[in-house]
Amino acid sequence: MELTQTQAQAWLASFATTILDHKAELNELDTAIGDGDHGTNMTRGVTQIQTVLQTSLPDLSTLLKQVAFAFISKVGGASGPLYGTAFLDMSNAAKQQSAELADLIQTGAAGIQRRGQAQVGDKTMLDVWQPVAQALAANQLTSQKIDTYLQATRDLVAKKGRASYLEERSRGHLDPGAQSSDYLFQTLLTVI
Ligand code: ADP
Ligand code: MG
Ligand code: MG
Repeated sequence: MELTQTQAQAWLASFATTILDHKAELNELDTAIGDGDHGTNMTRGVTQIQTVLQTSLPDLSTLLKQVAFAFISKVGGASGPLYGTAFLDMSNAAKQQSAELADLIQTGAAGIQRRGQAQVGDKTMLDVWQPVAQALAANQLTSQKIDTYLQATRDLVAKKGRASYLEERSRGHLDPGAQSSDYLFQTLLTVI
């Protein structure tokens, strides 16, 4: 199925409120294996996304580009450029190729991988993005599956980002970026 601009607007509005509701939780996850700011970082980004959603935008590609700029300019940290790259690449794909949802998310996952140089299994947001893209392509994405991908990050040892400094001690904690990505895709499911 193609993602419409109307669906994307509803998706990102719902994502924004979900992140705002879970700011403290995301900070706590990041306190355990990082520097405690993932909720604060994402809150700055989604607040800018709410501003973007109040403006009138001509098409899906432009919306995705403005969302990318919100992540890049407001979030900071490791996650800002990674989410920003994902949405910028999705914006370009929506303009030049297609707005097929599975293709867009696969493009976003590839952007995260290119920018962050992580592999699946490195305990990052990619551990949610990549299997979500695959499940969407198979038309088999469910809420339960997304949570399974998130929960699988708990037993992994981090190989990228701040959590990797902890080596074995990173095991036993959910990855914060995987949690925010879980919210991204849970809210996506509610609009499609
Ligand atoms: P910072 O670590 O700079 O404080 P955040 O706390 O906002 O940034 O984001 C941390 C999250 O970023 C991690 O939980 C992880 O999901 C993600 N991340 C970090 N480095 C990478 C990477 N190289 N590739 C993919 N995701 C990464
Ligand atoms: Mg952090
Ligand atoms: Mg930080």
